[in-house]
Amino acid sequence: MATIAMRQVREGEVPRDGGTAIQDDPDRPVFRGNGPDDYVCVSCGNLLATAMNPEQMTRKVRVRCGRCSTVNVSAIDGYVAPSGGPKRQD
Ligand SMILES: [Zn+2]
Repeated sequence: MATIAMRQVREGEVPRDGGTAIQDDPDRPVFRGNGPDDYVCVSCGNLLATAMNPEQMTRKVRVRCGRCSTVNVSAIDGYVAPSGGPKRQD
């Protein structure tokens, strides 16, 4: 179990096909998975996603922190899921 800080979204890097999850309750993580890692807000350290697998935390996954309103994105740049992820049709 590791705790990984996400990072702030930079202007213009947001993929159009992703969505931003809003954390309504700062005391409850938006995502709950079955993987090894917790992800926290880069600004305030609030827990945003718990027990996530790295392949679930692509750049399409963004979370707006319920405590400080920072929009966070996974720090894992360019990660391509080895299987089960979306595939291009070309
Ligand atoms: Zn925050």
